[in-house]
Amino acid sequence: MDGRLAGKTALVTGAGKGIGRATALALAREGANVVITSRTKSDLDTLAAEIDALGAKALVVPADVSNEADVDRLAQDSFAAFGQVDILVNNAGVGKNGTVSTLTTADYDWIMNTNMRSTWLCTKAFMPPMIERKNGSIIFVSSVAGLNGLPNEPIYCATKFAQMGFAQAIDYEAYPNNVKVSVVAPGGTNTNYGFYNGTRTPGDPMLEEFHESEDVAEAVVFAATQPPKSRVFMVWMRPMNESLGAGSGVHFKGAAK
Ligand code: NAP
Repeated sequence: MDGRLAGKTALVTGAGKGIGRATALALAREGANVVITSRTKSDLDTLAAEIDALGAKALVVPADVSNEADVDRLAQDSFAAFGQVDILVNNAGVGKNGTVSTLTTADYDWIMNTNMRSTWLCTKAFMPPMIERKNGSIIFVSSVAGLNGLPNEPIYCATKFAQMGFAQAIDYEAYPNNVKVSVVAPGGTNTNYGFYNGTRTPGDPMLEEFHESEDVAEAVVFAATQPPKSRVFMVWMRPMNESLGAGSGVHFKGAAK
């Protein structure tokens, strides 16, 4: 298959829906074979058929990426199918709005494990072979919530700041070995985020003003297709209805900033 990523294998976590789904398709359009993983197999099977139709290969691996045994199996299956993974996209993530008074320790464990423990486990599984080969790319889908603390998102912000710090720290061991580390930090994106717990409501007109998943996927492709001597560390994005500002919480047109 032609494309800037022909001959490469990418792995996208949280590929079943939203940004991960759009990213898997965008990478496949660039010629990459894609390992797609999330917990819901039916999402992955539907996506795999779309990737196949583009002429790329998809490997479906249902997994909970916060679970070490699942990530070990994900790595084994990926290496068995494609030999190596060239591009890791740490995308899986969840969130819940609330305050310290209303959020629970179970919420903390769920959000931190899904967003950061998964990032640790997948990077631990896929980065050392990249270092050994002196080639690879690790891309984090963090958030503007990893750049500024935001009201009602204390746990989510903590996990997204954690990804930022982790990415900056591992860049020191990555770049001397020709492994590129990049962070994509989107603002509000029209996905299924928060539908599972009332943090966001399907059909809310606010969502129509957000980035589309495909917009964020383009940023991931941009990071994955840098020329050999360059790396993009961060793509900081905002939809046109949000300010850059920290702490304004609701950034929508007409709202007090
Ligand atoms: P989404 O539409 O809810 O998709 C999340 C994906 O992650 C789903 O496929 C889900 O599938 C998977 N997932 C959740 N928990 C998982 C687990 N334990 N193991 C494996 N897969 C898991 O959300 P999204 O908005 O695309 O979010 C993708 C990333 O973008 C997240 O890191 C999020 O923090 C970030 N982000 C989102 C926004 C936004 O406004 N939407 C803005 C900035 C950044 P299963 O439930 O089937 O496992």
